[in-house]
Amino acid sequence: MRVLATAHGNLALPAFLPDATRGVLRLVDAEDARDCGVQGLMVNALHLSSQPGTTVIGKLGGIHRFMGWDGPVASDSGGFQVLSLIAQSSSLGSVSDRGFSYRLALGRPKQTLTPDRCIRLQFRLGADLMFCLDECTYPDDDPGRQRTSVERSVRWARECRAAFDQGGGEGARPLLFAVVQGGSDPDLRCECAEQLIAMGFDGYGYGGWPIDKGGQLVEMVEHVARLTPEGVPKHALGIGKPEHVVRCVAWGYDLFDCTLPTRDARHGRLYVFDGSPETLRLRGSFYHYHYAEDDKHRRDPGPVDETCACLCCSRYSRAYLRHLFAIHDPLAGRLATIHNLTFYARLMERLRTDGRR
Ligand SMILES: [Zn+2]
Repeated sequence: MRVLATAHGNLALPAFLPDATRGVLRLVDAEDARDCGVQGLMVNALHLSSQPGTTVIGKLGGIHRFMGWDGPVASDSGGFQVLSLIAQSSSLGSVSDRGFSYRLALGRPKQTLTPDRCIRLQFRLGADLMFCLDECTYPDDDPGRQRTSVERSVRWARECRAAFDQGGGEGARPLLFAVVQGGSDPDLRCECAEQLIAMGFDGYGYGGWPIDKGGQLVEMVEHVARLTPEGVPKHALGIGKPEHVVRCVAWGYDLFDCTLPTRDARHGRLYVFDGSPETLRLRGSFYHYHYAEDDKHRRDPGPVDETCACLCCSRYSRAYLRHLFAIHDPLAGRLATIHNLTFYARLMERLRTDGRR
């Protein structure tokens, strides 16, 4: 079995890391996550730096102790989030060759996110897998903009690498991943990958928008997988639809993170395999949605998924789950989240088994 060794244990590959952006998966805790078969979590350095502060988390013993989670934790740099802020309103921030300048809301103090600060924040968290700061672009940005983003992402990766090599205390070193940008230009993607590979990182991520207007994965996702070295972990940042995960694994991606399973669960959308995941053909459609709030489940005594052993499916009926959503009880979202996280854990287990065959 292929594994990625981290300071907090091995991740069996391919692995799906649910997004615990603010240090919580929302509605479920670390023990629930473990029971669902979750191997590792992805937190966000920028969000945690604003609340409660990475210094606070560092003084409390780091992100693992803070969250009560003893498995691997990856941390995102926060570059994508700052860019989303700037897209909302240019008065919330700007980007230059040095990094980002931003405020989390109007009236809040201005802060900077430079490569050096981004690595310091992630060291304070004590993450096992860190990401370099990069500049994401929009698919319809012009070629000049895409080139600037690649130049900055490469420059920032070099500065992150330097801060990483100097920083950190005693103990096991975390892993450092760089992110390949370049929009929809294959040559630019190639140039970015080559420069990052020359610096040498523990893994490489696909950066940029992965989905086209029709909801399909863009060609560049496969292209970037081919550009990065075999045997070195590849992370498909933000890619999480089950059929997309299956395709990306076939292309060589090993790591995924996404808010999809937990966010969908809170909105009453649960994932159900069309049969047993151990034997199911994963080509084409292999699962469907269970809309928990649907009126047709009002008197349904059956579980959401007969083949699932999660707390939601083993103990409660579709009728009960529908009732919980109808009365807006937080237990509804909790049970649905437990189910969706279990679905993803089963999917990844199946993909690992396929790889071993
Ligand atoms: Zn279930």
